Amino acid sequence: MKAQGTSVAVVGGGLGGLAAACVAAARGHKVTLYDKNAWVGGKAAVLHEDGFRFDMGPTILTVPRVLERIFTEAGRNLTDYLDLVRLDPQWRCFFDDGTQIDLQENIDAMAETMDRFAPGKNAGDGYKRFQEISAHLHDISNRFFFWKPVEDLFDTINIRANMNPATLRDVLSLRMGSSVAGTIRSKVKDERLAQMLDHFTQYVGSSPYGSPAVLCAIAHMQAADGVWYPMGGTRAVAEALAKLAAELGTTIKTDSDVASLRIENGEVTGLVLATGDVVAYDNVISNMDSVRTYRELVGGEVGEHYARKDFEPACSGVVLYLGLSKRYDHILHHDFVFSRDPEEEFDFIYRRGEPAPDPTCYLAAPAATDPSVAPDGGEALYVLVHTPYLRPHHDWSQMFPAYRQVILDKLKRTAGMGDIEERIVVERHLTPQDIHDRYKVLNGAIYGLASHGKFMGAFKPGNRSRQVRGLYLAGGAAHPGPGMPMVMMSGWIAADALDADCKVENLRNVS
Ligand SMILES: Cc1cc2nc3c(=O)[nH]c(=O)nc-3n(C[C@H](O)[C@H](O)[C@H](O)COP(=O)(O)OP(=O)(O)OC[C@H]3O[C@@H](n4cnc5c(N)ncnc54)[C@H](O)[C@@H]3O)c2cc1C
Repeated sequence: MKAQGTSVAVVGGGLGGLAAACVAAARGHKVTLYDKNAWVGGKAAVLHEDGFRFDMGPTILTVPRVLERIFTEAGRNLTDYLDLVRLDPQWRCFFDDGTQIDLQENIDAMAETMDRFAPGKNAGDGYKRFQEISAHLHDISNRFFFWKPVEDLFDTINIRANMNPATLRDVLSLRMGSSVAGTIRSKVKDERLAQMLDHFTQYVGSSPYGSPAVLCAIAHMQAADGVWYPMGGTRAVAEALAKLAAELGTTIKTDSDVASLRIENGEVTGLVLATGDVVAYDNVISNMDSVRTYRELVGGEVGEHYARKDFEPACSGVVLYLGLSKRYDHILHHDFVFSRDPEEEFDFIYRRGEPAPDPTCYLAAPAATDPSVAPDGGEALYVLVHTPYLRPHHDWSQMFPAYRQVILDKLKRTAGMGDIEERIVVERHLTPQDIHDRYKVLNGAIYGLASHGKFMGAFKPGNRSRQVRGLYLAGGAAHPGPGMPMVMMSGWIAADALDADCKVENLRNVS
């Protein structure tokens, strides 16, 4: 009989696991969090090298409301833990034809800029109409997908029970069967501006040509809620959550690899560490990749079922961490240096499974916002290029040197960084294989599972396991998906579902 105030193990201390630990602890559960690494925060790791500080993983923080909700849950103010700075313009975009445009937060101002950028194409009006669609899809997401444990359409819109015009309108306005790329191009006719808007789906590591239109909602989330930089780097988000979790009584065990779950009669009873130690728990929240959780931690028939299912990993990536002796004044904090041809680029990454010959490079250049990242006048330049998830023939120890040069040549050619190699004084990198090994993900995927499928692509394994009682899932490969705000929401949902189930159990025990 499980009751409120149960013992909870969280497997994995990524942002999803940390958020879940905070919420479960705030609700009165006794929480222990395990991570196989020496740090918590998972992909939100930090690299210190010769006076430079690099965020190793996520750098763009959006929708800080999610963080606020987690801190409010514990009766705390986010502002006492994090100093968030709003960045506007949000990104600078460099195109292959030598033109550039800044993505501004204000939709009307952005529309005017677009009209000047692409005269005679009705670009501003098209952008506003795209943002209206995006706002509507954001509203639908808020009502049906967010803050609740969802696995499929029937979990969220009860079509059978609510066969009324309003529900039908909502289902129809999900634009099922339409892709992100198609929706963008139906409104925005300039190919460069469409390419810029396509890149919101890179937040979830998926092709805009294969992703369902509902993901257009990301554009409105960013316009409405802004892009933020936590002073101290995005690593500060992980540190703030770890501090909160500890204050709420969570025990954090690093260097602790969880090998399997103990399951009796379809119910979690504890876990087994890689050392062989067995520890009893009433409930487990797994922040390990959801497919690997089922295949490796649960195992048995359920594991085999998940091994047979054809889950598609999201994309992976190569990151260069470049300590520069001199910063570039013509780039912003966030920049996209776009490929010559988005169709070619996405075809290579998502269909052929090979690195794109002319990739889009994302840059984070935080020194102007946070001078502590580099010695005086220098820059801790972060360059991320999306690549396919790992295929059996990919050997990045062989592939990396040539691809590094492709990336640097692209920056020289398209971003006005002709002398970049002369400015590099410190260099480190991360490959898909490193991502795979460091974070125990599926085929090196950065963002969990791909959101491909124009009908059901947005759905991920649910936060309350349907197969194992007492098992809950949080993280980028669980609902509602990847990216910092979504994984933290996922942690909140997993802990909330656990807590709700315990309350029901309590009532049963009383009656
Ligand atoms: C290079 C890169 C750039 C990114 N850029 C952005 C960005 O700009 N904005 C954004 O919002 N998102 C970005 N992301 C995505 C974002 O980082 C992730 O979606 C998010 O951090 C994933 O959090 P998570 O909770 O799923 O856990 P993860 O970060 O994947 O952490 C899971 C943790 O679980 C641990 N673990 C797994 N299995 C076990 C086990 N069996 N026992 C013990 N421990 C285990 C792992 O060691 C790991 O620490 C980026 C990611 C990367 C890698």
